[in-house]
Amino acid sequence: MGLHFDIFTLFPGMFSGFLADSILKRAQEAGLVSVALHNIRDYAEGRHRITDDAPYGGGGGMVMKPEPIFRAVETVLSHEAGWRFSPADPAERPPVPEVPPVLPAGVPIILLSPQGRTFTQKVAQELAGYRRIALICGRYEGVDERVRLALVTDEISIGDFVLSGGELAAAVIVDAVTRLLPGALGCEAGAAEDSFATGLLEYPQYTRPAVFRGLAVPEVLVSGDHARVARWRREQALRRTWERRPDLLASAPLSQADRQFLAALEAERGSAPVTGART
Ligand code: SAH
Repeated sequence: MGLHFDIFTLFPGMFSGFLADSILKRAQEAGLVSVALHNIRDYAEGRHRITDDAPYGGGGGMVMKPEPIFRAVETVLSHEAGWRFSPADPAERPPVPEVPPVLPAGVPIILLSPQGRTFTQKVAQELAGYRRIALICGRYEGVDERVRLALVTDEISIGDFVLSGGELAAAVIVDAVTRLLPGALGCEAGAAEDSFATGLLEYPQYTRPAVFRGLAVPEVLVSGDHARVARWRREQALRRTWERRPDLLASAPLSQADRQFLAALEAERGSAPVTGART
């Protein structure tokens, strides 16, 4: 039993390429992760199955109506993970619940939103601990506020920019969470060494050839001395983080040796002539 994602969207087709290749494909085949795409339109009322309407108060654009989203999420989460509604006949659509059903505890219902908490590796690790996660993708000018007030348990943003819809944001979350599941990457050590997992940016990576356009692989990496390689990588990770993301150093777990190395970098900078951009 892996981790199950229920994704609520008006554009389920946007996920097909992404789910059909590489790590996501393999993780699904291995039973580590499963993804059910639910078309919100299947849960809309009336012959036209309208899912959006003009905003109260005026202004441009359209807002996603609350009823289809509530109905979709409440219906799907009232069923076992893996359940999918397939509308052979419009008359067979699931009934609108009279009273709000009690949704299963322990299943986060996440609205993708530029106003949500920022998605980070830490949030990905947190989500990797669940068995089932619901993701709601907004479109147009966004979703009716009642969805946020009375349905969702969490709101996540993938960064300070505005997308046309939540689909790419949901895909980002599925990808980042899946690669954390044990067995999803070929090599177990992979995810543990990644940027952010250690609290630092990762060290530089090299593969063959040993020399490319006059640029040689650092000698230490071909030395066969595992202790030296480990020390070089740690120092490179510290240097990179110090240069590019010094904000991360405040919360990264650092050893005594790490602190001495960073102090040496600071001293080096203190004595170096000021030249603007560091290399
Ligand atoms: N008018 C809204 C933005 C709507 S963008 C506002 O200013 O807050 C349309 C949809 O795209 C949103 O409902 C959300 O689901 C998705 N979206 C846009 N940017 C996003 C981001 N940075 N992270 C996650 N989802 C985002």
